[in-house]
Parts: sequence; C-alpha cells; structure tokens
Amino acid sequence: METLSPQEQAVLDLIDPQETVDLAGRLVQIPSLTGQEGPAISQLMATWLEEAGAQVRLQEVEPGRVNVLARLAGRGPGPRLLLNGHLDTKPVENMTIDPFAATVRAGRLYGRGACDMKAALAAQMVALKALARSGRPFGGEVLFGSEVGEEGGGWRFLDLLAALGGCDLAIIGEPTGLAVHLGQRGVFPILVRTRGRATHTGTADQGVNAIEKMARVILTLYALPCFHRVDPLWGRSPINVQEIHGGGKVTAAVPDECVANFDIRLNPDLPPETLQAAIEECLAGLRAVDPALQVEWTFRSQGGTAGGRPARWLPPDHPLVQTMAAVVTAVLGTPARLGGFPGGCAAGPLLERGIPAVICGPGDLAQAHSADEWVAIEQVVAAARVYALAALRLLPVRPPEH
Ligand SMILES: [Zn+2]
Repeated sequence: METLSPQEQAVLDLIDPQETVDLAGRLVQIPSLTGQEGPAISQLMATWLEEAGAQVRLQEVEPGRVNVLARLAGRGPGPRLLLNGHLDTKPVENMTIDPFAATVRAGRLYGRGACDMKAALAAQMVALKALARSGRPFGGEVLFGSEVGEEGGGWRFLDLLAALGGCDLAIIGEPTGLAVHLGQRGVFPILVRTRGRATHTGTADQGVNAIEKMARVILTLYALPCFHRVDPLWGRSPINVQEIHGGGKVTAAVPDECVANFDIRLNPDLPPETLQAAIEECLAGLRAVDPALQVEWTFRSQGGTAGGRPARWLPPDHPLVQTMAAVVTAVLGTPARLGGFPGGCAAGPLLERGIPAVICGPGDLAQAHSADEWVAIEQVVAAARVYALAALRLLPVRPPEH
C-alpha cells in the first residue's frame, strides 16, 4: 500500500476540511451560469488566492466574463503543473433544490455547480494554499487556472492557457469520483438524410417512405460491431441518435425526407477514419439490397469544428498516470481506479498539444447537471489532499542554497 512520507504528511495536515467545504459552499452561492458568469465569482477566487500567497491575475475575456489565473513559483527549474477547472455552471431551470443555498446535509454539499465543478476548484485552491504555507522548497511552478464557458458556450480555456504562458503537466478536476481518467473520447457528430417519394397515404405502397427508410438505417448503424466492443477502461463507444425530423409537410402523405442527428463518441480504439469507412460500407450494403434507398450523411458542425475528432489519451503506464494513481491510492487508502472521461473537457486541447493531462476530481458525473446536484464532502476534502500530494510528487524538491 502507498504510504506518505512525514514531510508529505506535514503538508497534508495543513489542509483544513472545514475551510475546504466552506470555500466550495461560497463558490456555489455565487451564480455563474455559462455565458453570464459575472465578475463576482472570479473576484472572490482572486482575493482568496492572493491571501493564500499566490500571484494572481484576472483575465477579462469579455465584459463580465473573467478567467482566474494564479501562480505559486518554486525555487529553481522544474515543470509547470496546472490545476484546472471551469467556473461556469449549467442553468438552474430543471432543479428541485435551491441552486444557490449551498446546503450541507448528511455529508453532502448541494447546489448548482457543487459537483461540476466548484468543489474541485475549492479543493485545488486549498491545495495551493497548503503548498504555499508549507514553505516546501520545490522546483517549477504550481499554476491554478479557472475559465468561463466550458458548459457549452464561449469556452475560453485557450485564452487562459495562453495567459498562463502554457504548462507542462495538468490535472483537470472534472468529476470522476477521484478515479484517474486518462483522457477523453473523440467526437463524431453527423447528420443522416434519407429521401423518398411522396404520395397519398391511400397509395402508400407506390411511394417511398423516407422515415421508414431511416428506421432501417438507424438500426443498422446501431448494430455496427464497433459500438459493441467493450473496452475495460472506456466501455463502449456510444452512438446516440438525438434528434429526428421528417414528414409533416402535407397531411395524409408519405414523407419524402427524413433527417436524423447523431451524437457519436469515439473510444481510443475507434479513430474517425475507421468509423467513416464502416458507415460507408454499411450504407453501401443497405443500398445493394434496397435500390429504392436514397441515403447520404454529412458531418455537422459542433463547437466550431466540422468533422470527427479522435480520442486523446495517455497510456496507463505514463508517468503522470502512475504518479496520480499512487497519490489517489495513498490518500484514499484503496487502490486507485483508472478510467476514460466520457465527456469533453480541458484535457482534450492539452493532450492535442502534447501536454500530459489527466482528469481527476471529486463527485460523480451522474450528479453533474442533475436536478439536485450534490457532492460528497468526504470527496471534496480528499480531492484537496490529492492535488497537494500530486504537486509534491510531480515537482522536484529543491533544497535551499547555502
Ligand atoms: Zn464540467
């Protein structure tokens, strides 16, 4: 079992559980919905981090939308480790609890953003404070960066990264239940269109029903073997037909057009080119047995990018993954779990740039965006310890010069 050195234990002892939970609660109490984050939350984070001993900078990317950057410089050379999380949250319309009360009950902190991902921000900030107070001589830098707009609008992570001057390693605090996630899936957003021939319902057998054709196309795509392979870390590559339009132009008529919108996510074992070839082959097979079938597909633009994007990940034996697994094991006292992050996050652009990044944060993704969003307090405190210990192990010790 992983153990802590007395020096490491001394740093972790500086983490105050109550302060960690209180800070997470204060962040939840300030609304910061995507696109209308407002400066208040960024201001609070900046003031807190400054008092904790970090150099702080605010980056206003648009009026009222402010990224937060903090830096704890070590002595001498070493890697720049980024602790990161977005500060915006989903809207609150679907919620059944007071989204901003930050109620603590039965070991849980409730509220919008509690799980995704203000608990992680608080844990990262508290970890940074413990490192600052410890006076531990490390080389390199611990960076903290929190950006606006991750939850589906005006994401400004790249501005943040540029303002930080880049980084060499990163831990993204998205909710993983403190499992170590090695990267994120790729995306493959497509539209499929079938065309038919309209006739009166009374003579339907003489028309070609575009919806009926689409039904067959959907089921055939769902049956592709690539969506049924189960990877031990990543599970299955999910296919989801998320929207469908067809018919309704004229009543009592056979529809002549149907469009289906698919959200497909790609595990590391399914590159976009492979899926593209599989879809072409599948549709060619359908056309061969049904000459009346007219079907075509195109990429739909998603987040400004058209076309598929492959998964980005680190191999399980990468040093950053190994260190994080040892850290989580030492803090939790149970073997760390590895996994793949099912959604998108800042790890994607970092890995794309060749910067090693893992995802590890408090809370379960199932509670993110939920009607009664919450995070387990135990996990928030453990996360602060994980981030602090990770910094201690990823940055080299530099004894003071005489
Ligand atoms: Zn998130």
